[in-house]
Amino acid sequence: MSVFENIRTNLEKVSAYLELGEDEKKLLLSHKAVNKAKLKVEGKEYDAWRIVHNDALGPGKGGIRFHPGVSEDEVKSLSFWMSLKNSLAGLHYGGAKGGVKIDPRKMEANDLQGVSRAYVQAFHEHLGENKDIPAPDVYTNPQVMAWMLDEFEKIKKRHEPGMITGKPMSLGGCAIRADATSRGGKIILDRLLQKMDKDPKKTSVAVQGFGNAGMNISCMLENDGYKVIAVSDSKGGISDTDGLDVSKVIDAKKDKGSVTFHQGRRISNQELLELEADVLVLAALENQITVKNAADVKAKVILELANGPVTAEADDILLKKGIVAVPDILANSGGVVASYCEWCQNKTGHIFTEDYLTRVLEEKMAGAFDMTYELFKDKQGLSMRMAAYVLAIRRILDAEKARGNLD
Ligand code: NAD
Repeated sequence: MSVFENIRTNLEKVSAYLELGEDEKKLLLSHKAVNKAKLKVEGKEYDAWRIVHNDALGPGKGGIRFHPGVSEDEVKSLSFWMSLKNSLAGLHYGGAKGGVKIDPRKMEANDLQGVSRAYVQAFHEHLGENKDIPAPDVYTNPQVMAWMLDEFEKIKKRHEPGMITGKPMSLGGCAIRADATSRGGKIILDRLLQKMDKDPKKTSVAVQGFGNAGMNISCMLENDGYKVIAVSDSKGGISDTDGLDVSKVIDAKKDKGSVTFHQGRRISNQELLELEADVLVLAALENQITVKNAADVKAKVILELANGPVTAEADDILLKKGIVAVPDILANSGGVVASYCEWCQNKTGHIFTEDYLTRVLEEKMAGAFDMTYELFKDKQGLSMRMAAYVLAIRRILDAEKARGNLD
């Protein structure tokens, strides 16, 4: 099933609750701009996209992914989720996303720089601090953002650091951006466990994906007394029921390229998803929990740091099993909240202290969680994802109505 089909299914589920009209559904399922290009770098060609789903709340906002699995369907889906995520977090942003179909793990830094610059050459007309603002996503990082900013400013012949976020500190980056997604996810998990009357020190966690999001949250959880009993990356996973030493796993990942080089019982990616752990953190890619494995998930809580890791059909199975899945548009919004602060600094020239940024992140995450949790608890049969969708979609449609685009 295509990723966007999941979105259609979820929108159908929520539309009865929201009593959406056909024109509202049509608007939510369509994209404001679908831009494609073929990037030509060193004699090779790469498919690339920049897509804006909705811009009623503000300029487009969303990361750029470099991955061999990137497709138009995926970028459209990711841009849709960005619209909802930004709306739920209360940010003045629409939703956008970009991607290049490429495997950066097999490329030299020079070629990666070439692709990053070619991306901006292809899409610069559509980007800008008041138009559409990219950020890092899977296999892109602050260095890629720096090359992109430099190319943009060369073309436009002016400085405009707010056209992209997730930059290095030397180019106007934000002190908490690098691990903000994980910080935000941890704030949400702590709050949820509190509501469920569970003690973090008696809580075991399995983490799928050990990149920016998965690695950082594993560290934060371990530091706070949670027991991280398994982690995985694209090469496989490891587990230890007594708890892994996360700093040593990081060393294995950094020195040898995979968590699987750390001691511990080797497990497959599939096994990790089905482990006896209290919490399952999904921090890799889309469509990881599907109808095929949802019934085998044993965790009581799923935290979606990845975008779209649970399919719409799998969601129904999890709900029936009483598993609480904290949806991506809530759980992983810490990154874009920090990006928003970075953008505000760039546009105004203010420099916020780290204490202030941390406070903003905490307030935004807690606010979005409390609102969503309240609706989820109030309405029997509504999953936390559907509660989050209801709140996010309402705000987008209110903005469209205020603009006179809907009756
Ligand atoms: P990353 O590139 O830093 O890490 C991705 C990790 O997933 C890598 O360790 C990779 O080996 C692993 N992986 C890939 N396929 C896997 C599989 N089948 N099983 C297990 N592991 C697998 O990317 P990231 O920035 O950490 O992003 C991860 C997810 O979080 C993505 O869905 C991304 O859209 C989402 N996200 C990230 C941020 C952020 O700020 N980094 C913000 C919001 C959402």
